[in-house]
Amino acid sequence: MKNNCIFCAIAEGEIPSFKIYEDELVLAYLDINPFSAGHALVIPKAHSEGLLDTSDETLAAIIARVKKVAAHIKTALPCDGFNIMQNNGEAAGQTVRHVHFHIIPRMAGDPLSFENRKGDMDALKALAARLAM
Ligand code: AMP
Ligand code: ZN
Repeated sequence: MKNNCIFCAIAEGEIPSFKIYEDELVLAYLDINPFSAGHALVIPKAHSEGLLDTSDETLAAIIARVKKVAAHIKTALPCDGFNIMQNNGEAAGQTVRHVHFHIIPRMAGDPLSFENRKGDMDALKALAARLAM
């Protein structure tokens, strides 16, 4: 596996994902263990580990894509708001060492806890088809 990295493998198409958006720079797909319905991840296709080893130019381009995907999710789903989360280092809860931005849809008054819940693969497949851009 390239860089021994599961997100590189997803970017290369070696491992399937519930893709919702792709362009020359990034890929966006549903988190398989979502915090909430529509929880998506935006990754650059090129490997870097976190915020600090990713160039300013790449980060600027990624955040523009995060905005685009979040805007789409917000209109396509019942969604009152959303959190953007980006973890750096094990101490901060980073489990995959390929920089990624979480888009976490929220509903007013929802009891969300920032804990992964085991995703239902059929539901994720259907949701990815609905959210495909
Ligand atoms: P973090 O804790 O910020 O490193 O987030 C990693 C996220 O990646 C977690 O929310 C995982 O559920 C998610 N994840 C891990 N493997 C996959 C995968 N193969 N497809 C989609 N999401 C994944
Ligand atoms: Zn990687």
